[in-house]
Amino acid sequence: MNYNSTRGLKIGATAAQAIKTGLCPDGGLFMPEAIPAITDEEIRALCGMDYAKRAAFILGKYLTDYTAEELLSYAEAAYAKEKFGERPAPVTPLSDRKYLLELYHGPTCAFKDMALQIMPRLFSGALRKTGETKTALILVATSGDTGKAALEGYRDIPGTKIQVFYPADGVSRTQKKQMQTQEGKNVSVYGIEGNFDDAQSGVKRIFSDEKMKAALAEKGVFLSSANSINWGRLVPQIVYYISAYCDLLADGAIAAGEEIDVCVPTGNFGNIFAAFLAKKMGLPIGRLVCASNENNVLTEFLSTGTYDRNRPFHTTMSPSMDILISSNLERLLYTVAGAEETAGYMRSLAESGKYTVSEETFSEIRRHFSGYCATEEQTAEILRQTYLQDERLVDPHTAVALAAAKAYRENEKSPRALLVASTASPYKFAGDVYRSITGVAAEESSLPGVLKEATGEPIPVPIASLEDRAVRFSEVIGKEKMDQAVRDFAAEN
Ligand SMILES: *Cc1c(COP(=O)(O)O)cnc(C)c1O
Repeated sequence: MNYNSTRGLKIGATAAQAIKTGLCPDGGLFMPEAIPAITDEEIRALCGMDYAKRAAFILGKYLTDYTAEELLSYAEAAYAKEKFGERPAPVTPLSDRKYLLELYHGPTCAFKDMALQIMPRLFSGALRKTGETKTALILVATSGDTGKAALEGYRDIPGTKIQVFYPADGVSRTQKKQMQTQEGKNVSVYGIEGNFDDAQSGVKRIFSDEKMKAALAEKGVFLSSANSINWGRLVPQIVYYISAYCDLLADGAIAAGEEIDVCVPTGNFGNIFAAFLAKKMGLPIGRLVCASNENNVLTEFLSTGTYDRNRPFHTTMSPSMDILISSNLERLLYTVAGAEETAGYMRSLAESGKYTVSEETFSEIRRHFSGYCATEEQTAEILRQTYLQDERLVDPHTAVALAAAKAYRENEKSPRALLVASTASPYKFAGDVYRSITGVAAEESSLPGVLKEATGEPIPVPIASLEDRAVRFSEVIGKEKMDQAVRDFAAEN
């Protein structure tokens, strides 16, 4: 299976090259030249396998330059019991044929673990396959979730080092503690005086600095990123939709071949695009429901055909969806409309911040997708209702998805079973969850204990054990010191 650019460049890259490079030279994203099929018999066979075997089988359809043994060993290490418990992505029932796909049982309690536990292994394998002798230094600017998940994923992975910059005053107490106590021999973490944009623009500047590149090359190091446009992060996400279908089938919740709907809380469009690929492969999926918070650029796109990022940015209690440029939407445009049309839309986006898709493209997208968004009040209300009526404690991102699922059911009257992606542990956002269900704010220092007292819901071990862990990285630096921090870390053995 070879990979080309969504903007038309015929690269013919192997999967290993696509994963190592991340972005195409013309600015486009890597996509496989064809979407492989999964048959009903294969789905039935997967039902009898554990998650790691399911993952290795499905990854094997896309990553054809990796051997079956390699993929299985990566998957078994990534989704090991010590990291994810007995079942990495369990499906649990709610009322009215709604089901939660629980994607937050990994080491950092957010769904990004599902991809970031296996991607570093695919990446390390890619370095080997492409004959790379330099060490990859993964640079990450984070607003919270991604940084910790990347640190956990890349720690002690051969051929790599990882350095994370977070805004010192822009992440939650739990998130800061998670990063400051990071273990591993190849990791480095700094707080930055400033906001997320300061950290992000610092990292971008370093990536485009040719002098830095030359200086690092002398030390045998090159820079790389772990962001969600990398194919190595997207492809592992296809697995859990197929796995969930198998679980629903095995539990008798659906009959063989029966269609289900899937609802995903969306920011960068990565997770829901993975569900779309599962559908294209042949998984019986009816509609894909794209859930957004008050940053509803995708809801508008799916109802009008115009994508317009020229709008106010809202800070919400689902911060991982506070995004105005959904990078992976480019992959959907390419799949539906082809490279030439996609390149045009992306030019328009760069020039004016917006584009309108052709009628044909829009109607094809509408054949698969519905879009709904939730206000902060609606999110808090559904979080409370879900707790009181379904006796389930969910995080605010999942609550956005449940609000969208409700609106979808009311508007479109679908009788199908509905799988809702649940993307974080409520304890990662304990303050907002507590306020949503009780109506009063909790003292930051009393979290997460007060949420446990109020609900009786156990605190996941990775969060409960944080207080006992030694702080290794407490340094906060000005953004002008980031370059030196990178050079120093690159020079360390
Ligand atoms: C990253 C994230 C999302 C959004 O996922 P995308 O792939 O960007 O659409 C949703 N929920 C949580 C908790 C996340 O961390």
